[in-house]
Amino acid sequence: MASLKIVNGRVYDPANGIDGETRDICITDGRITASAPAGAKTVDAQGMVVMPGGVDIHCHIAGPKVNLARKLQPEDHRHDVHPRTAFTRSGTGGTVPSTFATGYRYATMGYTTAMEAAVTPIGARHTLEELHDTPVIDKGFYVLLGNNVLLHQLLKDGKRDELREAVAWWVNATHAYTIKLVNPGGDEAWKGRRNSVVTDLDDKSDVFGVSPREIISALVQVANELGLPHPAHIHCNNLGHSGNYTTTLETMRAAGDQRVHITHIQFHSYGGEPGKNPTSKATEISAYINEHPNVSADVGQVMFGKSTIMTADAPIAYMLRRLGKDKRWVNADTEFESGCGIIPFAYQEHIYTHALQWAIGLELFLHSKDPWRMVLSTDHPNGGSFMSYPKLIRLLMDRQFRDEQIKLVNKKAIKNTTLLDGLDREYTLNEIAIVTRAGPARLLGLKNKGHLGEGADADITIYEEDPDKEKMFSAPRYVIKSGELIIEDHEFRADHEGRVLHVAPKFDSQIEKIIRPFFESYYSVRFENYAVADRYLRHGEKIPTASPVAAE
Ligand SMILES: [Zn+2]
Repeated sequence: MASLKIVNGRVYDPANGIDGETRDICITDGRITASAPAGAKTVDAQGMVVMPGGVDIHCHIAGPKVNLARKLQPEDHRHDVHPRTAFTRSGTGGTVPSTFATGYRYATMGYTTAMEAAVTPIGARHTLEELHDTPVIDKGFYVLLGNNVLLHQLLKDGKRDELREAVAWWVNATHAYTIKLVNPGGDEAWKGRRNSVVTDLDDKSDVFGVSPREIISALVQVANELGLPHPAHIHCNNLGHSGNYTTTLETMRAAGDQRVHITHIQFHSYGGEPGKNPTSKATEISAYINEHPNVSADVGQVMFGKSTIMTADAPIAYMLRRLGKDKRWVNADTEFESGCGIIPFAYQEHIYTHALQWAIGLELFLHSKDPWRMVLSTDHPNGGSFMSYPKLIRLLMDRQFRDEQIKLVNKKAIKNTTLLDGLDREYTLNEIAIVTRAGPARLLGLKNKGHLGEGADADITIYEEDPDKEKMFSAPRYVIKSGELIIEDHEFRADHEGRVLHVAPKFDSQIEKIIRPFFESYYSVRFENYAVADRYLRHGEKIPTASPVAAE
């Protein structure tokens, strides 16, 4: 494989304490090395900023629900054609781009890794097929286990060891990266009691007699016992409802001192009375996270314009289905595994709630004391497309621009936040490098990503410095993936097939004696046909789990 040397660039590599120093980066055989052989191709990065490739910790880019969302919005395919080039294939864009366009568009922004955040176990095969079709970037997915009926039964019966083994079995059967909890225990309440929303973590399910708190604390612990590189990834109960910040605080408390990741926390930071207009509780949520180093979060920033609500949280999709002008809507439940909801949506500046959501996201960024634990996401495409990241970066880095934008949105909403209270913080390039690559990589436990030290994957982005940070981060001059120069002078020069990142925690195969009969009784597929064969992991990379921690 080719070797490469990047010279004269200002390097931002926060994981290695490098904050804008001019230094050379050498690449050999896809990895960063101390030196490069004589005759290595040289990239002159004079006047440019060199960062590790971007890492998206939470997005929705592949699998059955993503495909349904594509089908639901054919107009996006006509309006946003992604043409082929000499090196890359064609596709379509919109808020839910086709597989090819997804990979290329991430790459054109300098992102080289992205994690699909919600896949039902039974949807894993389809998801892996789409991930293989998603070029350039490395990727993986989180498997939904928070509303899994068999796991609820094991929990209710106090079969704690069997619960751990079953989780490990499911992670192996699907080739997932970690476990995801979405509105844990909430599907049963919705299905069984006609749209009741879980607000109280101690509200026990009618069917299984287990509470969300029991599910959360057990699965958080299981993920850590299995040594998963990224902890349980939690979408809290009560998303989107006024007053839900107490549910969010309780969820973080339910994790005790165990490692846990709370996703799109903006959607879970609302005060106010249920059923009435929300208020901001970003200050309270930030304070809790600032004080609890075991907790990390991604923001889930709302960006104005088109979005697609796409969630395993069936109850919230059901509630939102008639709110917008667009009447298209999907709600579904998948076997005994998880719910799902999809709604085309648009966030508008003049609407109180949308403006408040936008402002709360910014507050969470601006109040965060540890950028390593409050990282950037829009919950693509829920809060907005990943293509809006450059604008979000400008909002964080450029106070004047932010103040101008604040003036354009619903004034009553802004008054209910702290944005006008002299929040003059401007993110530095170093902090942007943390929230967009070094932080997410560390939270994911990806030791070879998010930094430029020796041995790291040579995933590198080179941006031309520009006072307009949106412009700067929209189109890097060079993008290097696994040591290969994919984009040069803003143009694709090569295609690349990224890897699928997954974990394979050890488990006792005796657990199949418990799982198999459940399939024979209830599932629409046979047990033998369920686990995804290894051949679906073409270009797979197994990320090691830590040595298992024995259960108490
Ligand atoms: Zn999400």
